Amino acid sequence: MIKKKIAIIGSGFSGLSSACYLAKHGYDVTVFEKNSQVGGRARMFEAEGFKFDMGPSWYWMPDVFDKFFADFGRATNEFYQLKQLDPGFQIIYSPDETLAIDADFNSLVQKFESIEQGAGKNLRKFVANAEYKYQISMSDLVYKPSHSFLEFVKWNIIKQVLKTNLFSPLSNEVRKLFKDTRLVKLMEFPVIFLGAMADKIPALYSIMNYSALKQGTFYPKGGMVEIVHGMKKLADSLGVTFELNANVEKIEVKDNRCNGLTVNNTFHQFDAVISSADYHHTEMNLLAPNWRNYGSEYWEKKVFAPSSILFYLGINKRIAKLIHHNLFFNTDFEKHADAIYKKPEWVKEPLFYVCMPSKTDDTVAPDSYENLFILIPHSTELESDEDLIERNFENVLSRLELYCGEAIREHIVYRRDFSGKDFKSEYNSFKGNAYGLANTLMQTAFFKPKMKNKKIGNLLYTGQLTVPGPGVPPALISGKIAATEMDKILTRFEI
Ligand SMILES: Cc1cc2nc3c(=O)[nH]c(=O)nc-3n(C[C@H](O)[C@H](O)[C@H](O)COP(=O)(O)OP(=O)(O)OC[C@H]3O[C@@H](n4cnc5c(N)ncnc54)[C@H](O)[C@@H]3O)c2cc1C
Repeated sequence: MIKKKIAIIGSGFSGLSSACYLAKHGYDVTVFEKNSQVGGRARMFEAEGFKFDMGPSWYWMPDVFDKFFADFGRATNEFYQLKQLDPGFQIIYSPDETLAIDADFNSLVQKFESIEQGAGKNLRKFVANAEYKYQISMSDLVYKPSHSFLEFVKWNIIKQVLKTNLFSPLSNEVRKLFKDTRLVKLMEFPVIFLGAMADKIPALYSIMNYSALKQGTFYPKGGMVEIVHGMKKLADSLGVTFELNANVEKIEVKDNRCNGLTVNNTFHQFDAVISSADYHHTEMNLLAPNWRNYGSEYWEKKVFAPSSILFYLGINKRIAKLIHHNLFFNTDFEKHADAIYKKPEWVKEPLFYVCMPSKTDDTVAPDSYENLFILIPHSTELESDEDLIERNFENVLSRLELYCGEAIREHIVYRRDFSGKDFKSEYNSFKGNAYGLANTLMQTAFFKPKMKNKKIGNLLYTGQLTVPGPGVPPALISGKIAATEMDKILTRFEI
């Protein structure tokens, strides 16, 4: 029997995931990727003996990765080796005040208690509640395609929602239990990844706290790119074809069906298409206006997760005081948050994050050298220029040196910058967003941009701008949902 042919636009985690599931369902799958490597925002580059993960660095929700590989009868450790980090990460509140998150939950509880009386007991309570939310979300809610509110109108789901305050603001839950500002910052930080402050994020997302504080923070030896390599290897074994340097220019539509793609000026015929490229780019640049789900007004009203300025640095010595993950919250947290989410502006003293994987992995930097990745989040409404990037660089380097108590600038032997304009040119990212739409209440589940194109029966969207949202584990899940929906469409309608 001739297999139906499905094209996937983009080879980020969601595209790779969809490709694997569709190939398993028996389709002939081709992935078109505009860049020369697979992995999307999680690509890696090598320079002067250093190996830099370009995007994600936090491996949370390990069960989601295990479930992905298990769906193909495989185990995660067949593809890469995980190490649990201990401490998982540290928060730097001032040059001499840090809080390290122990891998052992009981010792973390004691640490909380030593900071604030009763906080240890409250941490157990908070995390037990978050664990319950995690179980119900992961077993049911996040795997829904969210085409309609009706998917959620089941008594057992409503009961769980009522029982767990899923939709009240996360900050209310945190501030009821913790008063010490250091603990509040720690408990509210994981959701910053979700692209909004904790007063705008529903408490559902305390599942991130559960993952960070109880499940732990992991690292795949060789870097996060090893997940990409693992998924690509799996896709190869399932017969997926990859076309690299393949820029999709147009989704071709005939008789309300898409019948193929124009890639690098050449038409390719397909029975169906899933786009894992940024949703906005797919609709606004690859589809004629009459086929779009949403117009530019819709996108202008959406709240986006931040863009970022990134510095990839090679250092020719060891740095004792940094661990693998370091969050520099030694500045006015609220001020920077307001500048990202309320009144877009550049702040003089930004919050920043430093990843130093060479602490854990001797394959990512030459012997006795360090590999640093610095991230400064900022509003997608702002455009950076060389001056701004330099000012930010000087500021964070000074604060880094102050905390580390040693010179770092003069030991930089490699530097590459990456900013909003690169997100746009490398990934076709709307407004240079780094990690998609913010997971605010009004942008969660069935309020997210729909996975299905309402006018074209055989075109679906996957990835961080649709359900379930930004992050690597959600991208894996998004790819699975899209593949399952496409299989239903193609089987039901015999397209
Ligand atoms: C700096 C940074 C740090 C992050 N940190 C973390 C973290 O620590 N942990 C975590 O879980 N998540 C993190 N994230 C988020 C996570 O990386 C993303 O949510 C996820 O990788 C998105 O996957 P995706 O498949 O949706 O999109 P993408 O990875 O963007 O994939 C889309 C692909 O489509 C391709 N494409 C676009 N247009 C076309 C076209 N016209 N033709 C062909 N191909 C096209 C792009 O080149 C790209 O490869 C981070 C993201 C960034 C940027």
